[in-house]
Amino acid sequence: MKKIDKLGRSVIPIDLRKKYGFTEGTKIELLAMDEGIMVRSDEPLCKICHEKISEESAFPLCKNCMAEVIKSYQGKK
Ligand SMILES: [Zn+2]
Repeated sequence: MKKIDKLGRSVIPIDLRKKYGFTEGTKIELLAMDEGIMVRSDEPLCKICHEKISEESAFPLCKNCMAEVIKSYQGKK
């Protein structure tokens, strides 16, 4: 369990930060849910590797994963 300090701060564990692409400067929002508080970022993440997607993309994938998907798709033809 994490403690909250006197300023209301706590620490998001590194494994969760990696999983959700929370790096220094990532903007997050806290949403009140029935079960508790949900922490989420509006910054789009790759659905495969959870890297941040820098540019506007039609698909929720980073360049690397997009290239892999295209490669595997072309391989099936
Ligand atoms: Zn990716």
